[in-house]
Amino acid sequence: MSDTRAQADGRLVERLRGAGMRVTPQRLALHRLLAGSHRHVTAEGLLREASGELPGLALPTVYSTLELFVELGIVRRVAAPGAARYDTDARPHDHFTCATCGGLFDLGSGGAGHDEAVRAAEAAGHAVAAAAVVVTGRCATCRRGDD
Ligand SMILES: [Zn+2]
Ligand SMILES: [Zn+2]
Repeated sequence: MSDTRAQADGRLVERLRGAGMRVTPQRLALHRLLAGSHRHVTAEGLLREASGELPGLALPTVYSTLELFVELGIVRRVAAPGAARYDTDARPHDHFTCATCGGLFDLGSGGAGHDEAVRAAEAAGHAVAAAAVVVTGRCATCRRGDD
């Protein structure tokens, strides 16, 4: 994507100020690592990536920053098994997760397959905000070693 650092910073500053929150060097640096690419990260992975630029950064700070980004609609927490994954594409879409390697793969926006689940949730009196599916199994790469 053609997203410059300055544009990414500007968007974050706007969102933080809009929510009455402080702009910190950690928030800016972590947001830069996430902006402009669609991927799924764990807090541990992001900490490793950021540790060069932010030597004093600790895991709880990475977690709380990611949770803040979830609140601001910048990333989305994926309800996959294992460590919490944060998706830089905040739009609802479905995932496949591999029980063998822990890989997380996008499956597109889906939608039609969710109708039944959404209707069931509404019938139970819940207000539905979004529906996304996580399919689990063994990914194509891991299956190649199955023969
Ligand atoms: Zn796999
Ligand atoms: Zn995704």
